[in-house]
Amino acid sequence: MKHTEPIRTCLGCGHREKKGRLLRLTVTSQGRLIPADRHGRGGYLHASRECVHAFVNARTKSCRSLRAVCSREARVSYAALIEPSLPG
Ligand SMILES: [Zn+2]
Repeated sequence: MKHTEPIRTCLGCGHREKKGRLLRLTVTSQGRLIPADRHGRGGYLHASRECVHAFVNARTKSCRSLRAVCSREARVSYAALIEPSLPG
């Protein structure tokens, strides 16, 4: 039995959460953000509009936990991509 689930930080609200409860996103080599669970630079977000919006509207261009620069444009595209699948 596994008792410890990895903890990741939500890029939107900044709270720490069990990995399984967060959406995984990845930065492509073109600097685009896509929802993908694969190796490479990535980050995590709660599946909530609040957190997605907070991520999109973050003032900083570089998302430290992504260790990559993701432009606001890339974040807006990502939000448009996943918003239809968000609850609420
Ligand atoms: Zn969050």
